Amino acid sequence: MSESDSGPKQVSDPEYHSQNHTAAQTCGWTANALRGEGKCYKYAFYGIESHRCIQMTPVVKCNERCVFCWRDHAGHAYELGDVEWDDPAAVADASVELQRRLLSGFGGNDEVPREVFDQAMEPRHVAISLDGEPTLYPYLPELIEEFHARDITTFLVSNGTHPGMLDRCDPTQLYVSVDAPDRKTFDSTVKAIENDAWDSLVDTLDVLAGKADTRTVIRSTLVRAEGVHARGPLAGPTGPGFDAQPRGDSGVRRGNERVPAGPRHYQGG
Ligand code: SF4
Repeated sequence: MSESDSGPKQVSDPEYHSQNHTAAQTCGWTANALRGEGKCYKYAFYGIESHRCIQMTPVVKCNERCVFCWRDHAGHAYELGDVEWDDPAAVADASVELQRRLLSGFGGNDEVPREVFDQAMEPRHVAISLDGEPTLYPYLPELIEEFHARDITTFLVSNGTHPGMLDRCDPTQLYVSVDAPDRKTFDSTVKAIENDAWDSLVDTLDVLAGKADTRTVIRSTLVRAEGVHARGPLAGPTGPGFDAQPRGDSGVRRGNERVPAGPRHYQGG
């Protein structure tokens, strides 16, 4: 069975809740914050309240097959022709509804103060980072505007393969994965479906450099099997506002070994 035949398995994953092509999952930090057991680093850096954060994606499909990806690639079938896309307002509605459904059980939890639960029912931040490549959703810039119009800040994670789309996106914070220092390592590590993915990623760095009002961050997963060196395209001047977030490779679950297991990726965006 080909990947495309096997369908979007991840949308039916019991840990994901979904409406059409929008999927959400409770971040571990969101649950911790509800119980008063700590908040993610974005609280310390940016004041993001983890219990008011939605972890979601408007599309679970992806155009890369990274060797360190901990997701089930069978759920990443790339063919998009049969998708009936919801409009941005419907995706935003679905995100909030999914979050409320996911967190509803905390309402009866003695460890969760009522006031904190009520706040969680009115999310103020969305991490568009759950899974898939969000730039494959054709109305992503409008979706980000829709969230902002609802007083919800946005955090977007992309693999950088669609610079034109990212140029039109102005999230509160934009993370782009740069997981190889050169085309050869990129090809063997990221295994992009599109032949021009490396050139697109390099173009994306120029797009980031031109973002005046968006916090931009480069995220690199350091894979032991491929050598721990993922900053090649960043060696030259890349403009203001760049930060870097190195990560260890995560190993792969589901018995689908692709790289030697390393430190686990933190949960959440
Ligand atoms: S999804 Fe990301 S931003 Fe939101 S609470 Fe989890 S780690 Fe923090």
